[in-house]
Amino acid sequence: METHSVSKLLILLLMVLYHGSELTQCSVTYDKKAILINGQRRILISGSIHYPRSTPEMWEDLIQKAKDGGLDVIDTYVFWNVHEPSPGNVPFLICTILRGGMIWGFPVWLKYAPSMSFRTDNEPFKTAMQGFTQKIVQMMKNERLFASQGGLIILSQLPSGPLNMESNSEERFHDNEDVIDDFYDLWLKNHPSALSSFEEIKSVAHEKQMVVFLDYDGTLSPIVNNPDQAFMSTEMRSAVREIGEHFPTAIISGRSRDKVFQFVRLNNIYYAGSHGMDISTPTVSLNYGNHEYQTRTIDEKGNDMVNFCPVRDFLPRIQTIKDKLEKIAKDIKGASVEDNKFCLTVHYRCVNEENVDKLKEMVESTMEFYDDFRISEGKKVMEIHPSINWDKGCALQYLLDTLGFEDSSNVLPIYIGDDKTDEDAFKMIKSIGRGFPVAVSTTPKETEALYSLRDPTEVMSFLILLAKWKMGCALSKLV
Ligand SMILES: [Mg+2]
Repeated sequence: METHSVSKLLILLLMVLYHGSELTQCSVTYDKKAILINGQRRILISGSIHYPRSTPEMWEDLIQKAKDGGLDVIDTYVFWNVHEPSPGNVPFLICTILRGGMIWGFPVWLKYAPSMSFRTDNEPFKTAMQGFTQKIVQMMKNERLFASQGGLIILSQLPSGPLNMESNSEERFHDNEDVIDDFYDLWLKNHPSALSSFEEIKSVAHEKQMVVFLDYDGTLSPIVNNPDQAFMSTEMRSAVREIGEHFPTAIISGRSRDKVFQFVRLNNIYYAGSHGMDISTPTVSLNYGNHEYQTRTIDEKGNDMVNFCPVRDFLPRIQTIKDKLEKIAKDIKGASVEDNKFCLTVHYRCVNEENVDKLKEMVESTMEFYDDFRISEGKKVMEIHPSINWDKGCALQYLLDTLGFEDSSNVLPIYIGDDKTDEDAFKMIKSIGRGFPVAVSTTPKETEALYSLRDPTEVMSFLILLAKWKMGCALSKLV
């Protein structure tokens, strides 16, 4: 390919957009949700052209066909291996219009560069990629091709591999098990397995008071299509029972407190439902809510308990919202609304992919009328919460306080959870400055957790190990 061929491609891309719509000479901005063209959101129909798969002579016809087929924009990767055949030798430029990873294809010479490790936090790799990226971006700027310069490139994007992993990485990586394994191994370097780090955890926890906090769904039970059937196994129940016998233990779940109790059915642990907005403990806290949110109750066994709930006043409106969301869900096959008492969960795991955005938009537009509620995204769910300054991290601290452990430097909280809402508890442990935040994940993801476990099976192994260790410590003191 020669320089003039590439110039031809750029002109052809311009022609598609020029004839196709009002996109030429437009302003392109971003409002954190969508790209705005001349201040308006609009749906752009995009198609890919992998230009090395065709000769330059074919490009004009290809682009004409794309335009005739109704495309607004064309996206293409930039093929690193094609354009930098030797280090630093970038003879010409191809532009990216929209979507997908700006760089694709590693040049062969990269393999032989000293200390090179691909797609990792590796200095030689980052330096080489930065060099190439800067060159082609500068070339595009020199040609005044970006929309901000009056050109037609509305978005260029760098690859979002292990250097920029997000919480929805499960979906991103699901189709390539080998890639997952490689990335997971890299991720483990920063978030080592709590199982393989058990000796280290033991040595820190020796002679200290550990307090155990557990999420439920995806941590003690598998994620399932029907949320009413997220049962924990008998083996898991007995592992949690053992843990409850050796450590103060609480489950902090997004489910209603009653529902999570029905799943777990253990009386030797504490429960916090609705993402920690509904907590049951034996004592009143002097530090939270000046008793305003705490009411005395009697539990199933006749024990005096204190129920802490900072969102009781929201209850009537939660029911109104629930009715509205249920009407929406009724019209979208596979959608359902779960009543978690002080929050609601819209499930879309069983909704056809093409209907998910429609469902989300309908839920979002309904919630626009309730500005003291917020929506957060979980694993194929939308969570609707009262918008108060309270989360699972606050619940962890409340439980430490009411169970008598808040101010002791001898106390080590451990929190095991798999979801975004668990990150608040991880952050809280970090801010306390001692303890063990453990993320449960089968794929790499961004997390505040210091340790990891792969799935509920590993969680169970870890809990069994922890209980055995504690039992061993107790027995050795008796000898
Ligand atoms: Mg969970």
